[in-house]
Amino acid sequence: MSYLEAQHLSHSFKGTPVLKDVSFSCEKGETLCLMGPSGSGKTTILRILAGLIQPDQGTVLLEGANITNFKPSERHLAMVFQSPALFPHTKVRHSIGYGLHKLGYNNAEADQMVMDAARLLKIEDQLDKYPGTLSGGQAQRADIARAIVRKPEILLLDEPFSSLDQQLKEELMEEMKRIQKKMGMTMIFVTHDETEANILSDKIIYLNHSEF
Ligand code: ADP
Ligand code: MG
Repeated sequence: MSYLEAQHLSHSFKGTPVLKDVSFSCEKGETLCLMGPSGSGKTTILRILAGLIQPDQGTVLLEGANITNFKPSERHLAMVFQSPALFPHTKVRHSIGYGLHKLGYNNAEADQMVMDAARLLKIEDQLDKYPGTLSGGQAQRADIARAIVRKPEILLLDEPFSSLDQQLKEELMEEMKRIQKKMGMTMIFVTHDETEANILSDKIIYLNHSEF
């Protein structure tokens, strides 16, 4: 039994098949990379793993338990979307800490969690800025801090480095490796870039559309 297993996932949007019998697995602490051409269903797979879409067929198992019908909040995972999910009109610290009070953390605990995440991403001096004033690299770091603030067991990343130039990309990839090791997180990320995939991943899953 693997830590996370996707078994025989199939999904259509309005009658158009997007995924057909896709299966893969990964172990705890591993980095799995999903590669494939645009439209091959990479984002759809992440959304199924996150619980944002119910697959037409197939199951998602976490440590052997069927979580296919679990709500996103019951899955101990977080997702970094293709476009940053920071609130435009609030300071970065509020985007990162959003929802922590609802989970029962008090102000001091929430502040500490935001600071810990910001330190890991090296953006502690950006917390009182508004997203519009951050550079592309800083915004991406803030968005990853938002995702990891609750210390998820699994981090899903949808083309997280695609808008960054080569040097920033390499820096952030190194940071992510370090953070992953430190937190013992499992990462599943989508990329178009073979070099990125080779640097970061333990395992690469290729999707293609030729079977349809
Ligand atoms: P990728 O991330 O590999 O580019 P996606 O998973 O985003 O691919 O999309 C796969 C296919 O499903 C695309 O053809 C896309 O247009 C379609 N699709 C994705 N989400 C929806 C949706 N909510 N409604 C209808 N079609 C969708
Ligand atoms: Mg996509």
